Amino acid sequence: MTNLSCKLLIIGGGPGGYVCGIRAGQLGVDTIVVEEASPGGTCLNVGCIPSKALIHAADAFHKMVNVSDGPLGITAQSPAIDLSQTVAWKDGIVDRLTGGVTGLLKKAKVRLVAGRADFIDGKRVQVTTPDGDHMIEADHVVIATGSAPVELPFLPFGDKVISSTEALALQTIPEKLVVVGGGYIGLEIGTAFRKLGSDVTIVEAAPRILPQYDATLTKPVAASLQALGIKVMTETMAQELGKTGLLVSTDGVETELPADQILVTVGRKPRSESAAIQSLGLTMDGAFIAIDDRCQTSMTGVYAIGDVTGEPMLAHRAMAQGELVAEIIAGHRLKWDKACIPAVCFTDPEIVSCGLSPETAKAQGVEITTGTFPFAANGRAMTMESETGFVRVIARKNDGLILGFQAVGGGVAELSASFATAIEMGARLEDVGSIIHAHPTQSEAIQEAALAGLGHALHI
Ligand code: FAD
Repeated sequence: MTNLSCKLLIIGGGPGGYVCGIRAGQLGVDTIVVEEASPGGTCLNVGCIPSKALIHAADAFHKMVNVSDGPLGITAQSPAIDLSQTVAWKDGIVDRLTGGVTGLLKKAKVRLVAGRADFIDGKRVQVTTPDGDHMIEADHVVIATGSAPVELPFLPFGDKVISSTEALALQTIPEKLVVVGGGYIGLEIGTAFRKLGSDVTIVEAAPRILPQYDATLTKPVAASLQALGIKVMTETMAQELGKTGLLVSTDGVETELPADQILVTVGRKPRSESAAIQSLGLTMDGAFIAIDDRCQTSMTGVYAIGDVTGEPMLAHRAMAQGELVAEIIAGHRLKWDKACIPAVCFTDPEIVSCGLSPETAKAQGVEITTGTFPFAANGRAMTMESETGFVRVIARKNDGLILGFQAVGGGVAELSASFATAIEMGARLEDVGSIIHAHPTQSEAIQEAALAGLGHALHI
């Protein structure tokens, strides 16, 4: 057993942990990051990046297959795809990014220890590695152990039942894919496989897909799933494995959906039982570790960040928390004061939500005014054959302070930065409405939505 010591020990090298490590290193804090799998965590290895790579490849293939039927005058003959090659390309991107994380930690003079960490107490952690064990003693410890896919007890992972991790590494395109769970992960991967040629059915227990978003936002996605030929079964419960696929029940009526693969995407659970975290007796918030506005847990000197601390389980929240904690440990007086965390569904079309929605504003008793601008009236959207969807702004009624933005449409993920900037900077409808937005861009819909909120949109 080797003894190591440091000022800051971070357990987990995902977006939360590695960003915390880089920033701490930049600030001169002696830091060790322990990672049992691959640097970059869920996001870089089996989450955000691999899923977006698959979506991109599926889109490219789907466009090629259908371009001859379109209005552009382009003909393509017999496009084909070799999924194993696509997955190898995706793995190459993952390798570049995870290698980049290792390099950035090294540049910041952060020690990266490959192994599994387990708490002995709030200041000591045992790390098990193939080359022997370490005892690491630290002034401060950050728990950044992330999350894992939820397994259904009656449909355990294995054989044809897979999680998003296996779905993103398939070497062949399943002929029949059943997706259990109509949240963003299931819809993103299900849509990608449909575009690659699979026969896809989505099984969702709630009355509609993406139940956490309002129906106006999800309607274009539901229409697109239908147009793509994806069967969506709402108010339907997965039961168990059948002889040829999945047994499901709708209104008490049982049917069997034939499937080569059953992808279960019913949510993610915090890894709050990893690293012997329970032995610390921390205050919990359900299954998540409870934290205050400095990401401090109930034990002095022990911080927690990222998915293990609750919703929204998103990489950019984990990164922002990681940066915050590094600054705090370096002695800066800071607390979490973000006005919004944008959320993006990379469905087709994409959905962005940032800040308050009409429903959340109502629930908070805030009187609002809204402005909506459709992409059907946006020149750039027309030139991209992408007229579905809209941008909607939510502002405080008495003074026009912007409280939220939602959008649905092709490529709207890239508008999320403008939404978050406006909200964080305390912009009012007049501010956004009077900023010159380049023409022709989809972003003009943001300016027009603000003008619509003021009652005088120009192009509608
Ligand atoms: P993680 O990334 O889960 O990292 C935790 C790390 O801790 C892991 O590497 C794990 O090996 C390590 N670890 C755990 N226990 C120990 C231990 N005892 N010792 C040593 N190491 C340990 N988010 C987005 O923002 N945008 C997206 O588009 C998006 N798409 C996604 C798509 C999919 C398919 C999935 C599954 C997730 C997606 N997410 C997305 C969510 C995103 O991946 C997570 O929010 C993010 O990775 C959380 O970061 P984290 O640092 O908290 O945890």
